[in-house]
Amino acid sequence: MISVEEALSHILNSISPLDPEKTDILNALGRVIGEDIYSGRNIPPKDNSAMDGYALRSDDTKGATSEAPAIVESIEDIPAGYPSQKTIGRGQAARIMTGAFVPEGADTVVKVEDTDREGNRVKIFVESPRGDNIRYSGEDVKIGDLVIPKGKIAGPAEVGMLASLGRSFITVYQRPLVAIIATGDEIVDVDEDTSGDKIISSNSYSINAQVRECGAVALQTGIAKDREESLIAAFRAASRADVIISSGGVSVGDYDFVKDVMAQMGTNIEFWQVAQRPGKPLAFGTMQGKLVFGLPGNPVSSMITFEEYVRPALLKMMGREEIFRRTVTATLMEDVKKKRGLKHFIRARVKKLGTNFVVSTTGEQGSGILKSMVLANGIIVLPEDISLAKKGDEVTVQLIDDTFEMSSKPEYLAFQ
Ligand code: AMP
Ligand code: MG
Repeated sequence: MISVEEALSHILNSISPLDPEKTDILNALGRVIGEDIYSGRNIPPKDNSAMDGYALRSDDTKGATSEAPAIVESIEDIPAGYPSQKTIGRGQAARIMTGAFVPEGADTVVKVEDTDREGNRVKIFVESPRGDNIRYSGEDVKIGDLVIPKGKIAGPAEVGMLASLGRSFITVYQRPLVAIIATGDEIVDVDEDTSGDKIISSNSYSINAQVRECGAVALQTGIAKDREESLIAAFRAASRADVIISSGGVSVGDYDFVKDVMAQMGTNIEFWQVAQRPGKPLAFGTMQGKLVFGLPGNPVSSMITFEEYVRPALLKMMGREEIFRRTVTATLMEDVKKKRGLKHFIRARVKKLGTNFVVSTTGEQGSGILKSMVLANGIIVLPEDISLAKKGDEVTVQLIDDTFEMSSKPEYLAFQ
């Protein structure tokens, strides 16, 4: 039996990020960008107006006030998207709209509210320094700028920036194909007949959802019987994938053949059994560059071992560097007994109280109690060397719910 730390480092050391692929920028959302993105253009491309108003020469506005306005002649209208045809000379101006390129000769823009017009005669009521209300070429991005570094996750702002750089396709890290195998003579699929002591394969679905939640691609290969032939067939069907995840059949029962079959299929088993609860029977190996995880069958063990080991592995394969969940230190609200020698992952509800966090367990912690996961927004991680965590102790909690501390009302407004 190895420690959680050893198990994790075995797994992470067997992984390097997958190769890159091209994708269109809409589908790049949430993917890890696989190239340094440099700008091939200035954004904005040319100096343009930040206001609706008049483009003119700053010198012509010298000393202008509402009592003694400067008078200029408007010689052109420049809507956004249309080039100006004229050069602005002394005493002249062009009516200009927000986003329109500033005409030759003009070096400032006075907003329309500070002007008055009769025919082509325009009164300017304010002095307008050079550059006022002008957005300069390249002030957002300059040619040659490194705009988005490799390794960044593409969010909406990156997608918009890529579009504005004129990039419709970019390089991202590939997503692993992850095959999911359920095992057990008692296990049937969700729409199947459960008479005769059968139970529904919830693991197939929780694992599938966990895989997709990571951004990887799930391949559901079905349910194998507790017989070698059936398991071999299932592993064969899964062997196209980059990662194979089985659940069940990896413990010490008479019908637990998963490890044997993994070995028969050429898997180099790197470890089996980790000093943890739940999830002690976890097995891990590699097979021709693929990762093979034998997760324990109990629904909570399967979800927790995925969370602690498979998830960081998949994120690393997808080029992510921050592969671990956010953790907080929280005050434990009840005594929690544990087995000395094992690291415990305890399903919990954590909440913020002022500037501190408090945490309670979700109750019954049996590894078959899937509801303990449904209720949880965090996992308390208790170290090996204790047998009791006491009410009032400070404990480490992994946050597993991305909606944690989201609010039904804006925190920055006074209304209730
Ligand atoms: P095993 O390790 O195969 O003995 O499974 C441990 C426990 O998990 C048993 O009670 C199984 O019935 C249950 N189990 C195994 N596979 C699944 C599954 N796919 N979905 C739900 N429960 C399962
Ligand atoms: Mg079984």
